[in-house]
Amino acid sequence: MLVDNYHRPINYLRLSVTDHCNLRCQYCMPPGGVQKIAHEEILRYEELLRLVRVLIPLGIKKVRLTGGEPLVRRGITEFIRSLSRIDGLQAVCLTTNGTLLGEKIEELYAAGINKINISLDTLDAQKYHVITTRPLWHKVWEAIEKALSFGDVEVKLNVVVMKGINDDEIESFARLAYKHPLQVRFIEFMPVGCGSRWSGEIYMPGAECMERVRKVGDLLPLRHKEGAGPAVVYTFAGAAGEVGFINSISQSFCAFCNRMRITPDGQLRMCLFSDDELDVKKYLRSGMQDAELAGLILKAVKQKPLEHAGYSRLIHQCHRQMSQIGG
Ligand code: SAM
Ligand code: SF4
Repeated sequence: MLVDNYHRPINYLRLSVTDHCNLRCQYCMPPGGVQKIAHEEILRYEELLRLVRVLIPLGIKKVRLTGGEPLVRRGITEFIRSLSRIDGLQAVCLTTNGTLLGEKIEELYAAGINKINISLDTLDAQKYHVITTRPLWHKVWEAIEKALSFGDVEVKLNVVVMKGINDDEIESFARLAYKHPLQVRFIEFMPVGCGSRWSGEIYMPGAECMERVRKVGDLLPLRHKEGAGPAVVYTFAGAAGEVGFINSISQSFCAFCNRMRITPDGQLRMCLFSDDELDVKKYLRSGMQDAELAGLILKAVKQKPLEHAGYSRLIHQCHRQMSQIGG
């Protein structure tokens, strides 16, 4: 089984399926976008499927597709269909910027996706244009409404909280949870990688964000569901939805981390913030047998770092862009 040297079981795989993106969020990407990885360096779908099949007997139960923007990759629906047919895989989830979701949601749902995280950092269309450099707020909002109309799709909104940029909207985002059956997740800004055009001064600790949310109503804690991830989740009396806080920097959840990540170019990363990588692509393409590949991955998992380095030392620490690792 996939267990590291600190006895943490690893059962959650985040697959960054592309480094391409149709947005240029200022907190994620440099102005000219990222230097693209050559097409042949990107893991093919059949290689990803093989990798997942190798990992399931080792304990992986849940796969999340991220990127870049996963919905810009051609053939993504077919890939999801193939993934969701793999025996033993309990959930196939998606993190998306939502801009292409409205037009694809029926086929994605039919292919097996039923947990969707949609990133939306503002409720103001003009501010959205500034943050993402594209005028697509209405498309994302329509996609959110459409996703909610599929009763059994679990919808979460990812809001990266940024001082002076969108902190004036914290209460408005929290109020969405009263009205809609979704989870609004307030995520601490992580000034990591070399992509972000904004740095430390926009960071707001989760505790400060929570104080603002309390102005909307008393927070009623919800029991942590197994496999629900690092968010600490609350609801309000009479609310249809929930609010969650992901305090990646101020309240590290490293002790409970169950994740491993694959970058689009086939590197296995055991920690978002650590540049230690295993070149899985090299082995997938070398004719190596599954059992040997599994052995190498088991060894790499053992070396998962106990924790990340803490806020000040994180800044610009890892050499990859957030859009390559997938958040
Ligand atoms: N393109 C998709 C999207 O935006 O949802 C998936 C990839 S994106 C890198 C995954 C998540 O990382 C998004 O929710 C995004 O808001 C978050 N993210 C990107 N840069 C971040 C940063 N510097 N700090 C915190 N979260 C960040
Ligand atoms: Fe693209 Fe997502 Fe990064 Fe925005 S956060 S630039 S949508 S990868």
